[in-house]
Amino acid sequence: MPQNYSKLLEKQRDFFKTGKTKDVEFRIQALRKLKKVIISRNDEINKALKKDLNKSEFETFTSEIAGPLNEINFALKKLHSWTKPLKVKTPLILFRGKSCVYYEPFGTVLIITPWNYPFNLVMSILTGAVAAGNCCVVKPSELSPHTSGLVSEIIMEVFDEEHCASVNGGVSETTELLKEKFDFIHYTGSTNVGKVIARAAAEYLTPITLELGGKSPCIVDKSADLEASARRILWGKFLNAGQTCVAPDYLLIHKDIKKQFLDIMKKELLKFYGENPEESNDYVRIINEKHFDRIASLLSCGNIITGGRTNREKLYIEPAIIDGITWDDPVMRDEIFGPVFPVLEYENIDEIVEMITSREKPLALYLFSKNKSIWERIIKEISFGGGCINDVIFHQVSYYLPFGGVGNSGMGAYHGKWGFETFSHKKGILNKSLWPEIKLFYPPYNEKIKFVKKFLK
Ligand code: NAD
Repeated sequence: MPQNYSKLLEKQRDFFKTGKTKDVEFRIQALRKLKKVIISRNDEINKALKKDLNKSEFETFTSEIAGPLNEINFALKKLHSWTKPLKVKTPLILFRGKSCVYYEPFGTVLIITPWNYPFNLVMSILTGAVAAGNCCVVKPSELSPHTSGLVSEIIMEVFDEEHCASVNGGVSETTELLKEKFDFIHYTGSTNVGKVIARAAAEYLTPITLELGGKSPCIVDKSADLEASARRILWGKFLNAGQTCVAPDYLLIHKDIKKQFLDIMKKELLKFYGENPEESNDYVRIINEKHFDRIASLLSCGNIITGGRTNREKLYIEPAIIDGITWDDPVMRDEIFGPVFPVLEYENIDEIVEMITSREKPLALYLFSKNKSIWERIIKEISFGGGCINDVIFHQVSYYLPFGGVGNSGMGAYHGKWGFETFSHKKGILNKSLWPEIKLFYPPYNEKIKFVKKFLK
């Protein structure tokens, strides 16, 4: 039952006004506490993710817990330097002025997250928002109830409600929340819902970050190391049963190596999950029936090279590689977000550039090649959120790199200092000396234009 969230917002606004969150030590203490509680609740996090997605302990640690812990540790190490006003140069025309950028928290921010990495995404984003000195309302996904429930418990244990709170619920609760005036909204989820969020934010001109999805291509060129490429691609595609925003969505393979590469992928996939991946402890399930049906229907496209067995009751879809695909097949229409890997072939790089740039901008792009000139062409000529050369997904593990989309795959970025910046207003201040008092800009202007043109050209 959605509530009215005005009281919660009022509390957070009042708390923000006290200025406590502007104290860097206060932020550090909060992040330390968050870190401690995440570590102490490790077993509960494992259990919740096992229930929601059948995640193994290994995947839970590497893809759900390690990320936020790294984000927190990095913020703890750097926060004093990040929060210092940033001195910048001053143009000559503003002679005897000093220029500085001040990082100021927005106030109260709303963080909406999806179900696919239901622990990591809340905690990593929250870290950036708290590090920047904001109050936060988190709205985790209703589709991963065990993890989202635990996330709320952890937030309640670590923070006072006036600093950070969690609201559980689905569309109606989020709709109610969006009626409130937040100072910033950070949304992670599908592109369609991203538009709903952007419309709601426009009502108050609230700044937003949208972390969305899309079809992320994975290109394998003739010069690639085929065995290593196959392993890396398969890992990234079938991690979390393909329910990863930055998973390779489809494979673009040079036609001369396609057969060889498909054979290698089949062999390597067998090594990962065995003859029957349904029995593997390391293979994740689909989140619910709705997504199961959507993904299972894509298996009728093209020719299945390997995999594709399903068990609806257990929400299991075997990793599937499908060949004989064209852009007209349903599997190429939207982001797959599941363990189905379509293969398309190409002959030259021009074709790839045209194929990708004539569609929506992807969240990620992966290129497997030893050819530097191909790296440069792809990076220069195709717009996408971010990506890797000779690997997949790991670009979003580095807290030195901004992580975010472009165009339909999102706007804004976070991770490390980029997250701190996203959640901060950058206030530029010019501090002008009272001497000398140059009267150049004041009327009467007369002949001053000649002088001004010299300086301002
Ligand atoms: P979703 O958009 O259905 O839901 C995300 C959140 O929005 C949930 O908290 C949900 O309660 C809320 N929501 C859903 N419908 C809403 C509505 N009509 N009005 C207001 N709120 C609403 O997304 P999802 O299915 O949970 O996640 C999958 C999508 O998220 C994929 O497209 C994936 O690529 C993307 N994703 C992106 C990133 C990233 O960092 N870029 C990370 C993870 C997932």
